[in-house]
Amino acid sequence: MTNYPIQVRLSETKKQKPLSDQLEFGRVFTDHMFVADYFEGEGWVDHRIVPYEPLQIDPAATIFHYGQTVFEGLKAYIGKDGKVLLFRPEENMLRMNKSSERLCMPQIDEENALEALKQLITVDKEWIPTTEGTSLYIRPFMVATEPYLGVSPAKKYKFIIILSPVGSYYKEGIHPVKILVENEYVRAVAGGTGTAKTAGNYAAGLRAQEIADRKGYSQVLWLDGVERKYIEEVGSMNVFFKINGEVVTPMLNGSILEGITRKSILELIRYWDIPVSERRISIEEVYEAHRSGTLEEAFGTGTAAVVSPIGELNWRDEKIIVNNGETGELSKKLYDVLTGIQTGELEDPFGWVTEVTETAVVKSV
Ligand SMILES: *Cc1c(COP(=O)(O)O)cnc(C)c1O
Repeated sequence: MTNYPIQVRLSETKKQKPLSDQLEFGRVFTDHMFVADYFEGEGWVDHRIVPYEPLQIDPAATIFHYGQTVFEGLKAYIGKDGKVLLFRPEENMLRMNKSSERLCMPQIDEENALEALKQLITVDKEWIPTTEGTSLYIRPFMVATEPYLGVSPAKKYKFIIILSPVGSYYKEGIHPVKILVENEYVRAVAGGTGTAKTAGNYAAGLRAQEIADRKGYSQVLWLDGVERKYIEEVGSMNVFFKINGEVVTPMLNGSILEGITRKSILELIRYWDIPVSERRISIEEVYEAHRSGTLEEAFGTGTAAVVSPIGELNWRDEKIIVNNGETGELSKKLYDVLTGIQTGELEDPFGWVTEVTETAVVKSV
């Protein structure tokens, strides 16, 4: 992006902040947002932090008709000493650019975007909840805003960052969830947009999620789009199994979203010298492992829950209970260590955590 620094127009009023024990996910937003505009031939201009408010976008904008949009999700935590911490935020900016490339959208300057993010967090720092398990969820996204109904990449975009204080994912402590294996609908196919964080993938998943919900399951386990045989993801999380002492996760195959939590967990597991492989794994293999008593644990991974243990799977009406429906030892350890590093309570041997320092001095205009 060009034209730094960022212009700041502060909100004249401050919204009431929710009580930290009443926080939900993604319903309340802070006082400010970051916005930049892109015009073909000109690049990114007009970087600004402004009061959080509705956007004015032409009804013919590409985003409304053809879904040209990408997003990211990460969290800021307040450490015990009051430091504001981000977990691998440069990975999110990198992934956003990869997603954008897939959707024929412009690249952002990753360093500038990170600087914008830090400045925005500094402006709305009071909004970061401090109760254990709470955090400030950060949602950077880009939308195509050119008013044109022809199907082609837009020539105008907005890059926006909004912030939302979120409650603890596990209000009653980390606990396993029930998962329905989806046999009909698929989330994504190789060659499609599964590897990009783009709206259409989530719209495509809603139907199956609704059905699972109605049957009393919290998420869907997605199988591959060709044979409905190989495991892809769980809900909007990556998925891991521990079978006979080895940790297995589906390899990146062109339809799976490469999670930053997935990547971090793989690095941790290798650091601990636990056997691990990224490979194709079929749902039949998981059921077979359960039958032979070697399926030790199953869990999903993503920014929101960090680690979400799976206690039950239902595939074609055949239910299996994983680890007696309890949180496995490895799942718990991964959750504790990752959240410990994220909140600064544990040492970070990997250099994953970035502190948001107030050197991001904000100039009021
Ligand atoms: C965001 C996302 C994940 C998890 O990614 P993290 O970077 O770990 O939060 C996994 N699967 C899908 C489909 C996602 O959208």
